[in-house]
Amino acid sequence: MKRHSGQDRSLTSRWKPATRAVRGGTWRSEQGETSEAIFLTSGYTYDSAEEVAARFAGEATGMQYSRFQNPTVQMLEERIALLEGSEACKIQASGMAAMTSALLATLSAGDHVVAGRAAFGSCRWILDNVLNRFGITSTIVDARDNDAWAKAVQSNTRMFFFETPANPTMDVVDLEYVCGLARGNGILTLVDNAFATPVLQRPLDFGADIVAYSATKLMDGQGRVLAGAVCGSDEWVNGKLSPFQRNTGPVCSPFNAWVVLKGLETLELRALKQSENALQVARFIEGRVPQILYPGLPSHPQHELAMKQMRAAGPIFSFVLEDRAQAMAMLNAMELCDISNNIGDSRTLLCHPASTTHNNMGPVGRAEAGVGEGMVRINVGLEDPEDIIADLDQALTAAGL
Ligand SMILES: *Cc1c(COP(=O)(O)O)cnc(C)c1O
Repeated sequence: MKRHSGQDRSLTSRWKPATRAVRGGTWRSEQGETSEAIFLTSGYTYDSAEEVAARFAGEATGMQYSRFQNPTVQMLEERIALLEGSEACKIQASGMAAMTSALLATLSAGDHVVAGRAAFGSCRWILDNVLNRFGITSTIVDARDNDAWAKAVQSNTRMFFFETPANPTMDVVDLEYVCGLARGNGILTLVDNAFATPVLQRPLDFGADIVAYSATKLMDGQGRVLAGAVCGSDEWVNGKLSPFQRNTGPVCSPFNAWVVLKGLETLELRALKQSENALQVARFIEGRVPQILYPGLPSHPQHELAMKQMRAAGPIFSFVLEDRAQAMAMLNAMELCDISNNIGDSRTLLCHPASTTHNNMGPVGRAEAGVGEGMVRINVGLEDPEDIIADLDQALTAAGL
């Protein structure tokens, strides 16, 4: 293996984000390939028995087994760490593998977690159905309310866990305040940054400790593979997360890691253009439906806070129709945009969260999380926004609006 300048932190730390996204983490084989190689191998061979013994003893560097390390996966880890501005990063098989690993690598029986009310359905499910079975309790707060976070802190609170903007209510969390509160109480902050990515928002700059991703979303950006990522300090990633992953195995396929590496090369272009398209579509929707939830609009109650923390508001927002029947009628009437529960894709996709992504929360959980029956979530893609608007307009008309 030939090392490339992309692996040299003394150089990459001076590169601007766009350069990091294209070249960060690159490692070249003796062939000198331009694009990153896909190392589809489960194991590795060694020149001597002593060499492998030294690697297993931690006395020599090098690959041992693809559950521990893989060159393609390592390239992605280094590239995401560089974009995030974190000391280290580990890649997982999916966003949920990332969240689960980050939580289980840190928490023990008797610990307490405070989490935001609006969250990806499965994130909430882990708190209610996994952590609680191991004696880890949680308090759910309205994440927009700074005082609610302060009031929820207990002597055994070990972690804060939230998304901002949150799925699908677009609640915005005051990163500086909440991360500062955590720091002051010796609590670790875990931020699910899937809706923003490091291009639009860098939680570490506001004092977060751990940033986790569904790389399935904007990082891949073209709806192809599942992947996850967790970024944090060297100490936590190598001391807590790596041993957990190495022994429990939520690892990412090298092929999927390679697809995400390619996605990162265009992440900034897509995230900014999709945010621009989303704002144009949101301005149209605002005049057309009873309620819209998009922090990118000046009418959103947390617009100023969102714009303080984010470079742009991202491709995703929600709007509220009368009831489930009207939401479904609108989705069924679309001709260009697709009905899909995925987000971050370059295609415009719409879904009804209450019956899909947030179905497993149950009606009580949904009411608490602010996920109403008439809510529709949209991921605005890279199509011409005028075509998207025309399709939404005719679909809203067909649904009686
Ligand atoms: C999609 C998503 C996840 C889960 O990611 P997968 O890659 O589907 O496992 C977690 N959090 C948020 C905010 C998401 O949008």
